[in-house]
Amino acid sequence: MAQATFHFPHGFLWGTATAAHQVEGNNTNNNWYAWEQEPGRIIQGHKSGLACDWWNGRWREDFQRAAEGAQTAHRLSVEWSRIQPTPDRWDEEALDRYLEMIRGLVELNITPMVTLHHFTEPLWLAEIGGWENEAAVEYFEKFVRKVVQTLKDYVNLWCTLNEPNGYVTQGVVLGIFPPGKKDIRLAFPFICNLVKAHAAAYHAIHSIQPQARVGMAIYYRSLRPAKPWLPLDHLIVNLQDKMFNDSFPRAAKDGVVRFLTFKRRIPEAKGTQDFLGVNYYTRDYVTFNLLRPQELFSRRYFRPGAELSTTGFIANEPLGMFEALKWGLNYRVPMYVTENGVEDADDHLRPRYLAEHIHQMWRAVNFNWPIKGYFHWSLIDNFEWERGWTQRFGLWELDVETQARHKRPSADLYADICRENGLSADMVARYAPDVFSILFPN
Ligand code: BGC
Repeated sequence: MAQATFHFPHGFLWGTATAAHQVEGNNTNNNWYAWEQEPGRIIQGHKSGLACDWWNGRWREDFQRAAEGAQTAHRLSVEWSRIQPTPDRWDEEALDRYLEMIRGLVELNITPMVTLHHFTEPLWLAEIGGWENEAAVEYFEKFVRKVVQTLKDYVNLWCTLNEPNGYVTQGVVLGIFPPGKKDIRLAFPFICNLVKAHAAAYHAIHSIQPQARVGMAIYYRSLRPAKPWLPLDHLIVNLQDKMFNDSFPRAAKDGVVRFLTFKRRIPEAKGTQDFLGVNYYTRDYVTFNLLRPQELFSRRYFRPGAELSTTGFIANEPLGMFEALKWGLNYRVPMYVTENGVEDADDHLRPRYLAEHIHQMWRAVNFNWPIKGYFHWSLIDNFEWERGWTQRFGLWELDVETQARHKRPSADLYADICRENGLSADMVARYAPDVFSILFPN
């Protein structure tokens, strides 16, 4: 048997990622809570409820689990509606609680990366139009200042927006996230306000903490022409790639927002990413289809025969990870894989998925591409937005009724990877033997 280890550079961060609304529980003052109460919005009427009960302190035991699993970093988000329950009030108690959580990480030698916006807004902001209203930009900046003032002694890595591209697609084009609009014409003003918010946050953070590293996490979707011989498929892939994958990081690079035929200069956004966060999950095959104007004249599907996750949400396409990182190089800044993972309740696919994706990331690292860390989604099962509790992304399983946690085998594999700062043949033979010959060919 081959004896080899795919090692990573010294100081590479190994962690997991979570988001406030998905893990904290009893989060009742934001637009997602309101959305969950509307019939038909969430599969099977699921609710975030107590989630993983972090707000009552169960973060302690879960951070302990992360530390015992040799993780050296954790990406989490702070909930705006808790910190600023009304536009004229800061909740110091909520800020203290976040400070305590972040200290809790640091005491375990876990480097925090803090996301400032992960899909949710305070109800009061939603009521005045959310990101459709340019006033949101200034509100966001003030909120960011408050958070950074509070946490700056412990946090150096800031992620302003999580997947603003996914957020606009889900919330404004497809209508499956709040605000629930289905109008692609609204996308451009939303994007512009989000880019302005990112830029304002970037400058605010640097004015308080010049040494901070600030970026966004972008949902990178690998898109492939379904019929490689058909120019129209290439055309549509190109268009969607630019619209979906590129619009935000490009604006943060050169200060120009481009979307379809729209273009707007936002000069303050130029040069506002110290790193690029890449969230990679899966790949789509795309074909031109005249009958589907609402999906920009295309149909998307997974590669026939691809291995699918429990609910068919993700196809295991590890090469897309390499492609995502290659794409990220265009932005000429260090990169973090800020999310990657798969929903897999019985953990039959996750060990393979993990091994194959880390292998592809290792290939990228070997080209000296500046990849600084990896955050697996997620530490523990959590509330999966419009998919409720039907999808389980955790290294640890959560029993939502009893709050009991159970370790999945993948948690042990990931702990071995974190401990070794690499993926070894032994680990693959033990946890993911099906892909041994792919990763270590004779
Ligand atoms: C989001 C997470 C989500 C994960 C899995 C990402 O797009 O940032 O909040 O849980 O996907 O669905």
